[in-house]
Amino acid sequence: EVKKQGKNGHRFYSQELDIQLMTNIELESDLRKAIERNELEVYYQPQFHAQSNRMIGVEALVRWNHPKKGLLSPGLFIPIAEETGLIFELGTWVLRNACQQMKQWHDEGGPLVPVSVNLSSQQFHQPNLVDYVKSILEETQLEPKYLELEITESMMMDPNVSISILQDLNSLGIRISLDDFGTGYSSLSYLKKFPIHKLKIDRSFIKDISLNNSDKAIVATIISMAQHLNLDVIAEGIETKDQLDILTKSDCMEIQGYYFSKPLSARDVEDSFFVPSRATINN
Ligand code: C2E
Ligand code: MG
Ligand code: MG
Ligand code: MG
Repeated sequence: EVKKQGKNGHRFYSQELDIQLMTNIELESDLRKAIERNELEVYYQPQFHAQSNRMIGVEALVRWNHPKKGLLSPGLFIPIAEETGLIFELGTWVLRNACQQMKQWHDEGGPLVPVSVNLSSQQFHQPNLVDYVKSILEETQLEPKYLELEITESMMMDPNVSISILQDLNSLGIRISLDDFGTGYSSLSYLKKFPIHKLKIDRSFIKDISLNNSDKAIVATIISMAQHLNLDVIAEGIETKDQLDILTKSDCMEIQGYYFSKPLSARDVEDSFFVPSRATINN
């Protein structure tokens, strides 16, 4: 990089690039150790039934307690995990933890709700996916109906491959949802062929829904389509009462977003939602 240091701005550019590269290389080698050092943590974002405010599920979202950089969000390290192949180990770790935690909550008298876990494309296409999901369910003793896997439309670009993976997953008794729905470029025809249970309306359609009639129309159409196809539907990214009211009017019963709750540590989920009797005793 030294030879690029000239009078014409290269120097600044390459330094910026170096810092970027250094950071990624550093993060990569740190990420390799993160799992064994117990630095990863699963957060849970509760999902609610809009009208009754009842909790209907939680989404598992991984966080990294980096010793120097603090709490890192998945947007920063999942891409590195995907590039380096660490996603397999990381993904298995998240799945096992989420299932364990859910089983523990069920045993302790928490609500009998499912946990949903995000899959990367590489995980979805790994040949032994079904076997390892099955073995984690057996190991953790979580009933399959309480596990939901989230995939995205773009993972299903090859319909022949996808349909057999989905059928195999389905035969385990778990549920599949389509995350970030509406942002992919795939055809709608797969919705009728594929064993999918739920659509998650992407946050980008919700963001301006109180101002933007096109977004409102798109969301209403997705909800209506889901109902006609007998699929569940949940809206992501609800932050305001306005957004909630529009969705409730459009008959979207399931809601996930900061308006109800941010993703929380397991401990905070327990304190805020799960064990009212414990809270009462403490009062
Ligand atoms: P996602 O699966 O679409 O998850 C929802 C994201 O939206 C989460 O970001 C969540 O914190 C955020 N969110 C929820 N409600 C609101 C809201 O009202 N407003 C706003 N602004 N944001 C909201 P997070 O936790 O940073 O995760 C980002 C993405 O990283 C996830 O998007 C998912 O694609 C990926 N991810 C997270 N955990 C895992 C994992 O264990 N494995 C894999 N493969 N990907 C993961
Ligand atoms: Mg998700
Ligand atoms: Mg996603
Ligand atoms: Mg999403």
